[in-house]
Amino acid sequence: MLDTTIAGSLPKPSWLAEPEKLWAAWRLSGADLEQAKRDAALVWIKEQEDAGIDIVTEGEQFRIHFVHGFLEQVAGIDWEKKTRMGIRNNRYVVDVPTVTGTLSRKRPVHREEARFARAHTKNRLKFTLPGPMTICDTVADARYGRRADMAMAFAELLNQEARELEAEGVDLIQFDEPAFNVFMDDVKEWGIAALHKAIDGLKCQTAVHICYGYGIKANIDWKKTLGSEWRQYEEIFPALNDSRLDQVSLECANSRVPLSLIGLLSKKTVMVGAIDVASTEVETPEQVAATIRAAMEFVDAERISPCTNCGLAPLPRDVAAGKLRALGAGAALMRRELAGR
Ligand code: ZN
Repeated sequence: MLDTTIAGSLPKPSWLAEPEKLWAAWRLSGADLEQAKRDAALVWIKEQEDAGIDIVTEGEQFRIHFVHGFLEQVAGIDWEKKTRMGIRNNRYVVDVPTVTGTLSRKRPVHREEARFARAHTKNRLKFTLPGPMTICDTVADARYGRRADMAMAFAELLNQEARELEAEGVDLIQFDEPAFNVFMDDVKEWGIAALHKAIDGLKCQTAVHICYGYGIKANIDWKKTLGSEWRQYEEIFPALNDSRLDQVSLECANSRVPLSLIGLLSKKTVMVGAIDVASTEVETPEQVAATIRAAMEFVDAERISPCTNCGLAPLPRDVAAGKLRALGAGAALMRRELAGR
């Protein structure tokens, strides 16, 4: 009960990439880089185990960007042909690569990483992949015409990938869909259908992580425009509750999302974000327990998986490690409290 996990990413150690910077370039190359990524993953697996995190990840130490890490191994994308595009409904304007041909995987993308992580922990293992809608909001389309069609093409590739990860012993595959609380109508029209295609045939647990993003300036500015209560989830949770995914995330620490919205997820395990990723202040175990306790007003403890609000990648390493320990200790505190009832 109250099985703890993290949204996915953790900081890169300073010998691997420049710290406290999102999407920092690698500091090594060739075989040294590959070894350093594995070393960094080992550090974070151990840190998670020691912190009492039940479902661990490789900390996304093998990739710079949560979408591009996958796309780099996909054929049909012209990286030279940049298209200027407003993404997340114009929250950021960036030059994105363009899909110009039929999409296919050049090779398995994360299989070796999952195999490595599986070999080094007896805990349950989670692996994160970008969701089809978020991928489609990160590349331009000069081939498929309709975004929904391109999303289905990506979902097919994600399904191939997910089946391989499952075969490597991954227990939980999470699709990251930060675009889900931006394009609410599309979620209902084709976003969930694309996720269903991505999880087709899987027997392992599946999850979708939706969020208001890392604690970076563009996101903080965007959040200011959302009003005193963030109710975007209200539009999509009923559809997600009827979906075939097992788990849905919600940021509950220092967020303006009304906690009552998780009451709409009556059939799901809820990853309750009890760690703020936009603050370097490390939570106390009591604060984490209080967030879990508040969520329990709307969802039974059996269906709560205490988690971080989002990835911890941009934080200083010691802060991230402290937050992992607070999460583990806070969940343990809450378990003891429940056992004593
Ligand atoms: Zn997130």
